[in-house]
Amino acid sequence: MTQLLWMLVAFVGGWVAWTLAEYLLHRFAMHALGGKGIMSREHLEHHVTSSWTFDPVILLAWLGIFVVGCAAWIPLARLAGASWPVAASIAAGWAIGYFFYEFFHARAHLVPPTGTYSTWLRRHHFHHHFGHPMANHGVSVMWWDRVFGTLERPDTVRVPRRLALPWLVDESGELLSEFADDYRLVGSAEAGDREAMLDRARAFASAAPVD
Ligand SMILES: [Zn+2]
Ligand SMILES: [Zn+2]
Repeated sequence: MTQLLWMLVAFVGGWVAWTLAEYLLHRFAMHALGGKGIMSREHLEHHVTSSWTFDPVILLAWLGIFVVGCAAWIPLARLAGASWPVAASIAAGWAIGYFFYEFFHARAHLVPPTGTYSTWLRRHHFHHHFGHPMANHGVSVMWWDRVFGTLERPDTVRVPRRLALPWLVDESGELLSEFADDYRLVGSAEAGDREAMLDRARAFASAAPVD
């Protein structure tokens, strides 16, 4: 195989490795820790508010994952006998996979879907947010959920009225008709339900979706 082909394989491999990290971090470092540690705490808060804010602490945490990921992959690949360009391609795939995830996760919260992939991603991710926090841990891809048995694909995704995404509703807070097949607004959670929602976002607190 030519060097270029190896680089391509390495790039795809690095990206796939990122998607596994995305799944494992989300499932175990964020949910299973149940609010212990800054990453888990911030993530559970993200579930409760469903808003997207550019938090510098979280940015630093993710920057760490990115830097550590790259710093680990290049020496590891070199040790395994890969050339510099191939080793760098693994790190590049990992880094691009990470930014792809960050970008599409932020967009899912902020803007309406525009195509098949963004429609899928929103349904998949918001079922995780509002329906069943112990399902659908992958954000950018579904295959690890399939492998680990955590994939759920409900006909309609239930969204608490109070947490409705800005693109999902009109000015009076009613569901936009174009999303009626995919989403359903459910009775508003009052302030007192905040703790209950946090509990549900914690692992093992409630394994079943509530209706
Ligand atoms: Zn989210
Ligand atoms: Zn989550």
